[in-house]
Amino acid sequence: MSAGNFSMEGGCTCGGVRYRLNSRPMFVHCCHCRDCQRQTGTAFVLNAIIEIDRIATLTGEPVSIGVPTDSGRPHRIFRCPTCQCAVWSEYGGLAALRFVRVGTMDDPAALPPDVHIYTRSKLPWVTLPAATPAFEAYYDSRKLWPAESLERRRAALGQPTSGGQS
Ligand SMILES: [Zn+2]
Ligand SMILES: [Zn+2]
Repeated sequence: MSAGNFSMEGGCTCGGVRYRLNSRPMFVHCCHCRDCQRQTGTAFVLNAIIEIDRIATLTGEPVSIGVPTDSGRPHRIFRCPTCQCAVWSEYGGLAALRFVRVGTMDDPAALPPDVHIYTRSKLPWVTLPAATPAFEAYYDSRKLWPAESLERRRAALGQPTSGGQS
């Protein structure tokens, strides 16, 4: 899969923040944890994981706010300063990566989840497709991510080849 001519745009509700992804995301999470349910006010969040340097901010500049987490690991949510729509997150202090909220993209259907996580708190009326991997809690990305995505993450985080959990 070439990163060459991929391009996908998105933005906040008021149009004050517009961005473009210059590569296909490395992986897409559908997270059913309680934190994500509270932060979005709904059943789950859709996060497309991508290197920060592959996001071009076209208009505006999102502002970040730290939020408490069940795990205690840092989580900053980046929002449009005007309409407060959340466009992406930084998890675990990993400044090189962003978790872009798929619902803010112009064509969210183009990025279906690659994995469902924290299904232990999935709302009972949400039915998951059998073909997509699903986990009660987290998962081993080394077993699930495409090799190219693992290499991209390793490069972004400056890690040795063995890789690490993020
Ligand atoms: Zn806005
Ligand atoms: Zn979550």
